[in-house]
Amino acid sequence: MSKSITNNLGSRLSSGRPSGEGRDTPIQFVKGVGPKLGLVFKSRGVETVKDLLFFFPRTYEDRSKLSKISSLTEGVKSSVAVTISSQKQIPIRKLGRSMLEVRCFDDTGELSLKWFYPPRGLEQRLLPGARILVTGKVKNFLNRPEIVHPEMTWGVAADDEQQNELTAASAHMGRIVPVYIEIEEVPTKTLRKVLWETLEKFSESLPEDLPNYLVEKHGFPTASFAIRGLHFPPDSEGFDLASLAEFRTPSHQRLIYEEFLKFEFLMLRRRIHGEKTYAVSFASSGARDRLSALIGMLPFELTEGQKQSLRDILVDLAASHPMNRLIQGDVGSGKTAIALLSAAYVTFQGGQVALMVPTEILAEQHFKNAKHLFQGKLNVALLTGKTSGPVRAELQGRLAAGEPILLIGTHALLEAPVVFSRLSYVLIDEQHRFGVEQRSVLKAKGERVDSKTGKVLSPHSLLLTATPIPRTLALTAFGDLTVSSIRELPPGRSPVTTQVVREKSDKIRAYQHIRKELSAGRQAFFIYPLINESEAEGFTQLKSAVIEAELLAKEVFPEFSIGLLHGQLPSAEKEEVMQKFKRAETQILVSTTVVEVGVDVPNATIMLIEHSERFGLSQLHQLRGRVGRGKHQSYCFLFTGKRTEGTGAQRLEVLETCHDGFQIAEADLEIRGPGEFLGTRQAGGLPFRLANL
Ligand code: ADP
Ligand code: MG
Repeated sequence: MSKSITNNLGSRLSSGRPSGEGRDTPIQFVKGVGPKLGLVFKSRGVETVKDLLFFFPRTYEDRSKLSKISSLTEGVKSSVAVTISSQKQIPIRKLGRSMLEVRCFDDTGELSLKWFYPPRGLEQRLLPGARILVTGKVKNFLNRPEIVHPEMTWGVAADDEQQNELTAASAHMGRIVPVYIEIEEVPTKTLRKVLWETLEKFSESLPEDLPNYLVEKHGFPTASFAIRGLHFPPDSEGFDLASLAEFRTPSHQRLIYEEFLKFEFLMLRRRIHGEKTYAVSFASSGARDRLSALIGMLPFELTEGQKQSLRDILVDLAASHPMNRLIQGDVGSGKTAIALLSAAYVTFQGGQVALMVPTEILAEQHFKNAKHLFQGKLNVALLTGKTSGPVRAELQGRLAAGEPILLIGTHALLEAPVVFSRLSYVLIDEQHRFGVEQRSVLKAKGERVDSKTGKVLSPHSLLLTATPIPRTLALTAFGDLTVSSIRELPPGRSPVTTQVVREKSDKIRAYQHIRKELSAGRQAFFIYPLINESEAEGFTQLKSAVIEAELLAKEVFPEFSIGLLHGQLPSAEKEEVMQKFKRAETQILVSTTVVEVGVDVPNATIMLIEHSERFGLSQLHQLRGRVGRGKHQSYCFLFTGKRTEGTGAQRLEVLETCHDGFQIAEADLEIRGPGEFLGTRQAGGLPFRLANL
């Protein structure tokens, strides 16, 4: 690789987001992106124009040809230009409302359009004489072709000359059109419009990351042509549906090449860096003996997976280059014990260890566990946002003096005054909750120059996660990260009985079941996706934790006491609510997803998740792992609407039969794709969006 490319790529990669006119512009500046849509995009990690440009379609639809009504075929998705002749509202008595039927025609025949759920005000726009383009799957109803819930493009003419004019300018018609992944309830048509606007305004400003001679050598299109071509494929060679589906278009070829080139470069740079870093080797046999003694103190026998993970870690810790390992194991597989044991092993040899977790509740739980399990045999301290000034100062003194200790904490560990004199081992629990940046800040606290050898020492590091990273991704995406898997749960746990609940009557039955469990002294988690309605006002009609909690308390379960937990409570209050639930002073904990993170309440046997279609499978699986931790049979109810469509719908059923977090993650990956799966935070600078590893 010539020096100039290395520099070129290097500066673009290291700054994370390459600079360039317009690319870093927040998406709110794109026409059609208001605050609501902005919020939805943000939840998917799409925040800038560049993120949007790389928000590629899930698939494509060929609408390059308009059909005539007379040639429509049942079952085939088609587009037709029509004029409206009449409309009528047909009451559906059972539902107490009406459906809308609109008749229309072209010069070859008549077509019906039907809406069982007509959007408000639609009938006023579909007046006789109006001309529209409609797209949808054709059905035959009483010998007349019809389209139910068609997609529509307005303000167009139905005659042929004007059609051409229209189609050239339209994002939705007369071409191969993109179909985007359904996010929240945003229709693909809206996304298409937004992408069209974005490309109109910003695609020219995309800088070229590939050096000229490579572009020429391979006959690649420019970056901006390539990206545009993936959203709105041009009517030119190589951009047919088959090539698009198989990632073979010139756009794909170029962008995939670019991704691999950047990846190789990152790997190379990492390797060069890795060869220069050393770590303290921990291999004392005395410490091993003390470790065995600790294992003997545990109230349980380690599972095979736990033992193997621990062995893997000990081998790595003995090396003089830093360990970089991930333990993945299902919720409840006992990763904490392994983390604590390996941490103890390092402190026995004089090292300082930091264990970072995403919440205070979890930090305290780990801290109590460490004290309780090892009864003073492990030197351990706790540091969170709640730690008082004097305690903190005292702790900082001990760290600076080099005391061998395991410090468990939250983000508070990252603050500047927390300085270790010999941090040798860094552990991060629930690693997907942290960004690349935060992980490296903590690691940097352990970097120092060895006074004897003059070598740069880095700490060993161990990541823990219950969201398994499929093998293909783990190997490549995280570079030289090695993985240990704990594939079994500790003995004596029975899988959580899981049911997807769609019908009202089944929901009532679920409530009855829950009441029985609660009366028998068990506890329940009720999970809701939002905190209050205003968060996405008018956009979706989601039940919110706050409103729902009140309703449940008053109407459905008046005889039980209910706690409410969400991310916007002050942390002291959160703690209080959680503790009350742990002590069984409340029977039901209504919560947003904050409980997702490792809390242990063995007496809870019910997990009810509202709007479960809005969660990823892995996330649902993790939530489900909050129950089934004690000796009683546990149940998980996945509530969802009757009419949910698309990928969200059937995938939920996977959870009814599958209890293996690894398989669930693979299913998730298949449905959502790697970018979506990893999330931008986790993918952190990874250049792959198109390339299939
Ligand atoms: P996770 O992997 O989700 O972090 P935890 O470490 O919180 O799981 O473990 C869940 C529970 O299982 C804890 O109460 C822990 O003490 C217990 N546990 C861990 N290992 C074993 C084992 N080998 N046998 C029985 N119980 C175990
Ligand atoms: Mg855990």
